[in-house]
Amino acid sequence: MKRNRKAKILATLGPASGEEEMIQKLHEAGADLFRINMSHASHDLMRTLIARIRSVEARCGRPIGILADLQGPKLRVGKFANTKVTLTPGQTFTLDNNEAPGDETRVFLPHPEILEAVKPGDRLLIDDGKLHLKAEKADGKSIVCTVVAGTSISDRKGVSLPDTLLGVGVLTDKDRADLDAVLATNEVDWVALSFVQRPEDLAEVRKISQGRVGLMSKIEKPQAIDRIDEIIELSDALMVARGDLGVEMPLEAVPGLQKQLIRACRRAGKPVVVATQMLESMISAPVPTRAEVSDVATAVFEGADAVMLSAESASGAYPVEAVSTMASIASKVEQDPHYPGIIYAQRTPPEATGADAISLAAHQIAETLNLAAIVCYTSSGNTGLRAARERPQVPVIALSPVIQTARRLSVVWGLHSVVTGDAADLDDMVNRACRIVVTEGFGKPGDRIIISAGVPLGTPGATNMLRIAYIGPDGQTGF
Ligand code: PGA
Ligand code: MN
Repeated sequence: MKRNRKAKILATLGPASGEEEMIQKLHEAGADLFRINMSHASHDLMRTLIARIRSVEARCGRPIGILADLQGPKLRVGKFANTKVTLTPGQTFTLDNNEAPGDETRVFLPHPEILEAVKPGDRLLIDDGKLHLKAEKADGKSIVCTVVAGTSISDRKGVSLPDTLLGVGVLTDKDRADLDAVLATNEVDWVALSFVQRPEDLAEVRKISQGRVGLMSKIEKPQAIDRIDEIIELSDALMVARGDLGVEMPLEAVPGLQKQLIRACRRAGKPVVVATQMLESMISAPVPTRAEVSDVATAVFEGADAVMLSAESASGAYPVEAVSTMASIASKVEQDPHYPGIIYAQRTPPEATGADAISLAAHQIAETLNLAAIVCYTSSGNTGLRAARERPQVPVIALSPVIQTARRLSVVWGLHSVVTGDAADLDDMVNRACRIVVTEGFGKPGDRIIISAGVPLGTPGATNMLRIAYIGPDGQTGF
């Protein structure tokens, strides 16, 4: 199956899309990888979804990535005696360590570390920002607040603390248990970490995961923006998590941050996913709004590696339509005459490495000679990532003997990965590349391609050669 677009689609699975038949439909409609949201999925459900995705993968013959999204320290207030209370701006309202049900004056906050970390003047945003409190007094056991805006609060609503640097690590006990279950399956390609604040947050997960999954940092805290370069350095990918980011930062700051994060990731050669409310109205309607189409198009014009669907594919009424709408927007944008120029304008110079020099050269040669494809042999995936960083308009085919690499690369801009064994010798390498280009639908006899590889063959991290090859008349061999 050949996609006619560079930007990838990450679709969240949920009650509307958990059946195998539906997963297959979403994949056929354009979903390149799937997200399992550990905030909602039990370990059993996660294993079931993984098995279904892998069965669709086996049937469709394309590597499919799986991302497990850890809930992270999502803070919530306790319960109220009557589910919900009404508040008036200007009044006092207290969050405290008393487990008794809440009322109009107070509620339990079951996070002692937060009671200690909040300082007078800090904002507390409840229920995606619908209720805005300002801390006036905090003594470690309670936070006395003034209601700034909003008129109600109810059971278990989420709390965001944009002004507070939390002393807690990014992994909660639930996340640790979820991560263990994820790693035990050996089938998950990416783990997303929610509410990353500091580079140190990644160290613990890195230690536990030992390279078995790629680490995707969800950028949804202002504190993460402050140290973004170090966070990118220690992450394998980023997600612009606009849902929580838009609660913790002024909403109008989000579009600029999205651009900044996409460019920083391109510079680093790490994939970046734009997420949340991309086609929100499609949760309940078969067509999107004009504004949503523009939003998806913007992310594609910006060169994001992937765009994500949340409730649209997980629990909405039109999951398949949401995926195919995203796919059509992406391919239309990529055919726009302005697209190549915009993508080119955001390029950054190569780093002084063999992989970058070769990626740049392959890109230039492919364009100069109007080649059918760039084929790169990549066992760890690094050469694939560096080739994608160039953002060539020519198709890029990443060949890897490692299925996990091929799956992980499913999130990366423009890469069509194929699993194939290590080439026996140079002739085999050229023939294999030509054959795969033809069978995957990217070229025909008489076309030319460019191949990058490392010699001696099969040595990871040693990309050091480029070869231009003609596809022979049999479509099986090259010369
Ligand atoms: P979530 O993350 O859906 O897990 O909250 C994405 C976001 O915050 O945008
Ligand atoms: Mn979030």
